Amino acid sequence: MPPFSIKRRLLLGAALYLLYALIALVFLTGVGGKRVVAAPVFSPYQAALPSAAITTELIKVLTTPPGSAAGAAQNESLRLPDLQIFDPFDIHTVSSQKGGDLRLKFGTMIWNAGTGPLETRGAENPGTKQLEVYQYLYPRGDEQAQQGKRIGTFDYNHRHGHLHLQTFARYQLWSLGRKGKLEGLVATNDKVGFCLMDIKPVDLKRRNAASAPVYAGCRADVQGISVGYGDEYVAQLFEQDLDITNLPDGNYVLVTVANPDREIDEARYRNNVSAVMIALKGGALVPYPVGL
Ligand SMILES: [Zn+2]
Repeated sequence: MPPFSIKRRLLLGAALYLLYALIALVFLTGVGGKRVVAAPVFSPYQAALPSAAITTELIKVLTTPPGSAAGAAQNESLRLPDLQIFDPFDIHTVSSQKGGDLRLKFGTMIWNAGTGPLETRGAENPGTKQLEVYQYLYPRGDEQAQQGKRIGTFDYNHRHGHLHLQTFARYQLWSLGRKGKLEGLVATNDKVGFCLMDIKPVDLKRRNAASAPVYAGCRADVQGISVGYGDEYVAQLFEQDLDITNLPDGNYVLVTVANPDREIDEARYRNNVSAVMIALKGGALVPYPVGL
């Protein structure tokens, strides 16, 4: 076989060069690759509540109806949203500075398992210049939403750089006694604001689930969570924490609640609470439980 001519070598080199360039292009741009949605990262330090009694007690304490909440939940003609909250995830501690405060950080995921979207619309009050927020509800067999009650305000959150619906979630830490009995509230973040968005698909197979994200921006006129979609707030965000400075060593329950004041009309409220057990020793998370 005759040796390759210079011309053939050059052609071969050029062809290889093109092939490498093509591979690099596909690799760098992700063309042909699959976009993977990461699952929540559960902390090795969190434990599920073993006792149904604690859960029942917590739910009773945290979701007692404030009198007038039954409203739309009884209304069969509406497709109501149903907010459900995942167990808090990615739990870790952060010390902001030497000798400064210590914070328990975690992520929150709230999704809509109802038959209708959670839709909220903002409208400026000409008197106060505030963005008043109303819930909009979809009747069965009708795509035209009707205005529900006022559920709060959209406020500009400077640290997040966008509008939040105030008091969409509440975070608490409860201490556990020797026999695993719920003792007392030791830390709380009462008014956690969220920008409501279709961030992650959770269950798109359910009836009335949206086939694609509908609520896609922190807008002033409309925000919401579609059926089957979840709104996630990762642990790194401001407000995704509780102040645990100087808390004694011990076992605790981290509780997160969606729609804590029941401002938003939903099909049910029992599934708005989630809790996990954690243990603290010397200001650090240790595997649950810690012996005292
Ligand atoms: Zn935000």
